[in-house]
Amino acid sequence: MRVRYAVEVKGIVQGVGFRPFVYGLAVHNQLGGWVLNHAAGVSLEIEGEAEDCEDFLIRLREDAPALAVVEEVQARRIAPQEAYSFAIRESGGGARDTLVSPDMGICEDCLAELRDPQNRRFRYAFTNCTNCGPRFTIIESLPYDRPRTTMRVFPLCADCAREYQDPLDRRFHAQPNACPVCGPQLRFLDAAGREQPGDALEAAKQAIRAGEIIAVKGIGGYHLVCDATAESAVTLLRNRKYRWDKPFAVMLPDLDTVRQYCLVEEAEAELLASQRRPIVLLRKRLDGSALAGEVAPRNPRIGVMLPYTPLHYLLCEQMPPLVMTSGNVSDEPIVYEDTCAVTALSGIADGFLTHNRAIFRRCDDSVAVYAAHAPRLLRRSRGYAPQPLTILDCGRNILACGGEQKNTFCLTRRDKAFLSQHIGDLDNQATLESYQREIGYFQEMFAVSPQVVACDMHPEYLSTQYARSCRDEARIEVQHHHAHLASVLAEHAVTGEAIGLIFDGTGYGPDGMLWGGEVLIGDCAGFRRAAHLRPLLLPGGSRAIREPWRIALAALADAGGMDLLASAPDGLLRPGWQILLQAAQQGINTPRSTSMGRLFDAVAALAGIGRTVNYEGQAAVELEQELSMPAHAAYAPYTFRIAQEDGMHVIDWRQLICAVVADMAAGRGAAVIARRFHQAVVALCLDICRCIRAESGLTQVALSGGCWQNIYLLEQTAAALQAEGFRVLLNQAVPANDGGLAYGQAAVAAAKIRKGMI
Ligand SMILES: [Zn+2]
Ligand SMILES: [Zn+2]
Ligand SMILES: [Zn+2]
Repeated sequence: MRVRYAVEVKGIVQGVGFRPFVYGLAVHNQLGGWVLNHAAGVSLEIEGEAEDCEDFLIRLREDAPALAVVEEVQARRIAPQEAYSFAIRESGGGARDTLVSPDMGICEDCLAELRDPQNRRFRYAFTNCTNCGPRFTIIESLPYDRPRTTMRVFPLCADCAREYQDPLDRRFHAQPNACPVCGPQLRFLDAAGREQPGDALEAAKQAIRAGEIIAVKGIGGYHLVCDATAESAVTLLRNRKYRWDKPFAVMLPDLDTVRQYCLVEEAEAELLASQRRPIVLLRKRLDGSALAGEVAPRNPRIGVMLPYTPLHYLLCEQMPPLVMTSGNVSDEPIVYEDTCAVTALSGIADGFLTHNRAIFRRCDDSVAVYAAHAPRLLRRSRGYAPQPLTILDCGRNILACGGEQKNTFCLTRRDKAFLSQHIGDLDNQATLESYQREIGYFQEMFAVSPQVVACDMHPEYLSTQYARSCRDEARIEVQHHHAHLASVLAEHAVTGEAIGLIFDGTGYGPDGMLWGGEVLIGDCAGFRRAAHLRPLLLPGGSRAIREPWRIALAALADAGGMDLLASAPDGLLRPGWQILLQAAQQGINTPRSTSMGRLFDAVAALAGIGRTVNYEGQAAVELEQELSMPAHAAYAPYTFRIAQEDGMHVIDWRQLICAVVADMAAGRGAAVIARRFHQAVVALCLDICRCIRAESGLTQVALSGGCWQNIYLLEQTAAALQAEGFRVLLNQAVPANDGGLAYGQAAVAAAKIRKGMI
């Protein structure tokens, strides 16, 4: 019996080879009909024998192309029309409801062509197809068609046009399709931006081999590249970039090479080689080949990525491991526009390997780690953004503005949350501009105008000020740590209450104090504070964050007064400490903070590491590094005391500080202190959760906040809680650090709207 179906498909179904796939499947099943792209997805009609149609509908979901994400297939029976041939129709208009694919690493087929001397794309640096290549970073507007991408300036040659029009070709409607005849070309510029004659790729590689620093244009911006085995080149890069200790990522040509430098588990290898190609933090091999120490000083891990563009593959051939770090100065955003590249990177780059395919929007590399049995994103950007996350549908569109550091924002449409790429630290003018611009683009791209704006409570965050300047929308201000908690709950679609162990650097509390070592009880709609760390004094405010010895000084005074200060570890106290302490005790320029991150700083400083630092969380990273040192004897964990104050548990660290000082005096050193301290935090988490479970019956625990990037802490705490029968919820697709804040804010706003609280 002949039947006909009208079918609507939604999801990531454009620019991913979906229509050729539909065409091939229809031809295979001897069906007539047509398929059409429109702004809301893909429409098609099929006609043929009933069982062939049914088989088609099953395979439409199950055999979809690699980059497609089929979210919804709606099929309804309609009257047959005697159709025996199948056609691909021109794109139509309609309401916009479609999704944009992230940029994807080169596929196996394209890589094989790149390496095949007989292929017309042999060694062509811009080879791509419907299964791979740039998307998000070249799309200017939707629907996704070549004239709306930065590829519009390259008219297709006859060969490329044939591929582009052939429904059975891998490049059918591949918008960035190109070849050496018609597509983008590489160029090599000297430090002053003058184009150099000759083979651009070879010139760049020669310069890198000679120890120079070359800016290389990638997918979402420029990288700064140098020889990762040459101490002098890496040091030069640090000096020029004003980046002293923060680790650099490296690019290695293949998994075998990665294994020479790092310990790689199977799951980590999978993450590295996935088409999203994040930077993966791997453990350094102590017995293998070594990179220059300056690549990731005093860090147990190193960020590694595999090549993800054809250009990267060509660049890595016959080359040492390469440092690949964002092309910027210090905390400025990554450079992505050709017009500014030479000026912005002048004094840093000795040359530029660039090309004439424009990048429409900046998008940094993503960073992931495999920890506690799952891949976890620490920075969700290239390869992931703007693929939506799910969120409870609350009937209104929300713009969540995010935090101040590691900013991302989040726009919702029904049950989809479009979390932006990594924007960066908003205290920088260029970053703030790209923040505002991207918010505009997202609204246009996803056809969403927000009705509710969510933001942090901190009055000085520029994201809060941005939210306050939006006058037409209802505004909701979300407490920082509640947003962290909600980010985990929303990721796991948990609607009930949970215990939130929210440990981070700093967030604004409703009482005006700086929070950050918080035990909350709540769901997405609300929370109460169940416990917090005893406040630490931060003498000198933000200077105390760069100079953790100041926090240690105040903690010593609090824990044991002048007696304890008299036995302070050697070299801790800097000249003028008495005056500083006096001012701190009088509250002059000395905020109080319950931050767990700051307690890590204080303990690290006492243990003789990270007494002054130059990136946030450095002291904690160096303390974690100590865990990989052999400790010659076993010591019990330090202990926190849990006191009761006004119905609240206060976590008292004073005894712990005294014990650290005693260990230093006994010459036990940083490795012992690091171990005892980490174990103490794990034990604390367990104690406090047991205590709350006894009081409230709650058995779900959510861990979030930047401190949970500490892998030892995360894995040990999760395991300890699970062993005690708790259900442990961790961030996975969304960073536990402030990069996940916007998603959490959106989840809080959605929950409050559903409860009629807004
Ligand atoms: Zn491909
Ligand atoms: Zn061509
Ligand atoms: Zn935070």
